[in-house]
Amino acid sequence: MSSETPWKDIDGIVRSYVRLVTRELHQRWEKWSIDLARREMHEVIGALLARQVSLAIQLAEAPTIWNGHVAPLILRSMTDNYINLAWILGDPLERSRKFILHGLGQEKLHIEHLKASLNAKGLDVGDDSLVKAREEWLNSQRYTFLTEVNVGAWSGTDARKMAEEAGCIDLYNHAYAPFSAATHNMWHHVAKYNLAPCPNPLHRFHRIPVIRSEPIDLDYLYRAAKYVKKAFTLFDERTGLRMDCPSAFDDLCQAIETLNEKINGQEDPDVS
Ligand SMILES: [Zn+2]
Repeated sequence: MSSETPWKDIDGIVRSYVRLVTRELHQRWEKWSIDLARREMHEVIGALLARQVSLAIQLAEAPTIWNGHVAPLILRSMTDNYINLAWILGDPLERSRKFILHGLGQEKLHIEHLKASLNAKGLDVGDDSLVKAREEWLNSQRYTFLTEVNVGAWSGTDARKMAEEAGCIDLYNHAYAPFSAATHNMWHHVAKYNLAPCPNPLHRFHRIPVIRSEPIDLDYLYRAAKYVKKAFTLFDERTGLRMDCPSAFDDLCQAIETLNEKINGQEDPDVS
């Protein structure tokens, strides 16, 4: 998008999206009957849906990061979240428990690292407010199934295999993997985004580091909304629930189309 970015239109699109997607999440939570005997399952699935919506809202509200430098970091996390959700929904209670156990194991491990580092400095672990707060949180996690702490990969497999098992290998191949290039600062990302040809013709076309300012691209917002929509659709299929509130994604697609028509109409006046 050029220097004549239609900020006012974009602001309206974002506000509408945030309002509708928030309502969609709330409606799903309200319609899902909670079985307290399977509390962990409801908490994990509810948290992952809310996470997906939170990431989309954070991206939507920050149009200056709708570019190839930053947006892929958020989108990659959203595809990761979707793969986790899809895999968990394949055996919800058992896999929600594994997910919690792994998270608690990681937290416990981190606390041990904190304590070791305090000990190495000769400080008293008992006086440390961070250690105390983290231990209190860990001890407050009272699930009846908690007997062991697992510090390995939580699903016992990797994202690719999870995506295969959960029927979303296309998302892995076409979104998770390419967005990983930006997330992990790999050569095929940095060479495109952070190098430019040297202007000195005697330097045999080597490339030099650049900080490139990228124009904003609505496609990143569209994708974030698409990944929320995917998560909602999957949830609805697996729970058999039917929603009646308007789709934030459909509304967004319509708004983007209208905006594009407006922009193209300005660029290419009809001369016939
Ligand atoms: Zn040079």
